[in-house]
Amino acid sequence: MQNPVSENIEIVRRKIADAARRAGRKPEEITLVAVSKTVSPELIRAAREAGLTDFGENRIQEAEAKIKALGAGPGIRWHFIGHLQTNKAGAAIGAGFELIHTIDSVKLLDVLDAQAQKQGKSQRALIEVKLSAEPSKHGVPEEGLFELLRASERAAHIRIEGLMGMPPYFPEAERARPFFARLRALREKAEKEGFGLAHLSMGMTHDFEIAIEEGATLVRVGTAIFGGRAK
Ligand SMILES: *Cc1c(COP(=O)(O)O)cnc(C)c1O
Repeated sequence: MQNPVSENIEIVRRKIADAARRAGRKPEEITLVAVSKTVSPELIRAAREAGLTDFGENRIQEAEAKIKALGAGPGIRWHFIGHLQTNKAGAAIGAGFELIHTIDSVKLLDVLDAQAQKQGKSQRALIEVKLSAEPSKHGVPEEGLFELLRASERAAHIRIEGLMGMPPYFPEAERARPFFARLRALREKAEKEGFGLAHLSMGMTHDFEIAIEEGATLVRVGTAIFGGRAK
């Protein structure tokens, strides 16, 4: 039987490579995170067989079930991309995510740090920055970013490696470009102040090519790989 997602993955990979070349970047600098929320373990398995290694989930319980079914390790890495509540911090650390993309407050950072210490772990993470005023969007406001970065220096068990952000939805994806550029500028500012932030997690199905042109190192793509999700 034909792999139901391999053709989609081919198309996304080609678009990633083309966008990288347009920006004078190497395609290998960009990690494709396949957003597998609501997607069955069978289909995730098919995506693995087609060569994908990184998967993104936005609910802790759903992620725990999938990690149990499919494992976690060098061949299959899990990313947490949803809003994280402090009461789920212990479960989030325990689940074994490669990268948590969504730290957005000092309180959440501190609770995750305490849980990681308790569980004897070191957790890689990103800070989610609020790029748009839409109430549905999470993230630390720009004004709070540097306080959170400074706090991360004393969080011995959490390694902050970059920034994540979501622009508002525009029918013309091109209009998201200034928001991606803004996130990149914030990273550059942080690097000037001595924070080593290698990663920018930005871009989804609708706008990942523009995000890559603006410096994304991780793109989070669901629909273009797995098809539309039931609402
Ligand atoms: C669902 C989701 C995505 C993927 O969205 P698509 O439009 O299906 O590619 C990316 N990032 C986050 C945070 C999401 O919740």
